[in-house]
Amino acid sequence: MLKSLDYVSTIKPYVPGKPIEELERELGIKECIKLASNENPLGPSPKALEGIKEFIAYPDKVSRYPDGGGYYLKNALCDFFTKKGINLTHEEIILGNGSNELLDIAVRTYMGYGDEAIFSSHSFVVYPLAVQSVGGISKEIPHINYKHNLLKMAEAITEKTKIVFIANPNNPTGTCVKKDEFEMFMERVPEGVLVIVDEAYYEYVTEPDYPDTFRYFNEGRDILILRTFSKAYGLAGLRIGYGIAKKEIIIEMNKIREPFNTNSLAQVAATHALNDDEHVRKTIENNEAGKRYLYEELKKLGINFVPTETNFIYIPLDIDSQVLFNALLQMGVIIRPVGPKAVRVTIGLPHENERFIESLKIALAKII
Ligand SMILES: *Cc1c(COP(=O)(O)O)cnc(C)c1O
Repeated sequence: MLKSLDYVSTIKPYVPGKPIEELERELGIKECIKLASNENPLGPSPKALEGIKEFIAYPDKVSRYPDGGGYYLKNALCDFFTKKGINLTHEEIILGNGSNELLDIAVRTYMGYGDEAIFSSHSFVVYPLAVQSVGGISKEIPHINYKHNLLKMAEAITEKTKIVFIANPNNPTGTCVKKDEFEMFMERVPEGVLVIVDEAYYEYVTEPDYPDTFRYFNEGRDILILRTFSKAYGLAGLRIGYGIAKKEIIIEMNKIREPFNTNSLAQVAATHALNDDEHVRKTIENNEAGKRYLYEELKKLGINFVPTETNFIYIPLDIDSQVLFNALLQMGVIIRPVGPKAVRVTIGLPHENERFIESLKIALAKII
């Protein structure tokens, strides 16, 4: 009988947020809302859509393979960072089919069977999956107050440790690591251990003491900074993200990367979205307003939540998360259960946030 590798057969598959169309089919109703996958409720950058339209006006552009090196997007990224006072070259950038793919590429570049990776409990569920896919060993360090315990994470590093993952801000808890903690951590990390800082929600951060990861990139440290177009830029469906690291790291990762891993439309859309400051500004404004509304309503209901640096809110529960999830589903509201006793809710448009709160009231009245 054909058998997969032991460490593959024991992988617990990733459970994605439920698609809206699926719920609408099941309930036979329209106008369900999805606050489950941290997508941008304002949709994609209009400039990105314009870029796509221009591109497909030349049909042969779609029949050709994409530019595997992503020349124009890398140019746009270099310009984008120059404006922020950060000098980058193409050799220091890698594009991914979502930043998710870059996590996988980094793992396959630097880890093998029996090697260790470190990350926090209550962090991004993709890290253990990537590590297990190569037969690596995951060391999960308990969080403190829904935050990474960076001191304990540094202390857990051994000869076998190849990668440390830090989601900053963290998904699903929405918390962030601060500058001084990160400095303390970087002082303790030996050479030869790759620190991956996953900054998928970077644009939403309000914490003034957010760490400057580029400082360590400039110092030539073993650090890989990941960003994505899936969240604030609203391009989750196109799958595109990028990594920044010193040349030596990017060269090695490029050996593992598929030659045409990012597609033409994603590259074009991202290149245009990057210069759409207005869309990002509106996105952040909507998020801040939604955050204030949800905080207030949750407080009124006496529901505890973890203050967020992202576009979602983590709500610890004293009831079963699946029960609440299902009750809300029946009302056409999709959120995300995370573990047995917590849910994560994406901040949506004002009417979506209101619908969530109203449905939550009804659901809780039924359950409790
Ligand atoms: C959403 C998310 C990503 C980005 O995924 P993409 O593959 O770029 O869509 C990466 N890390 C975390 C922690 C996320 O929540």
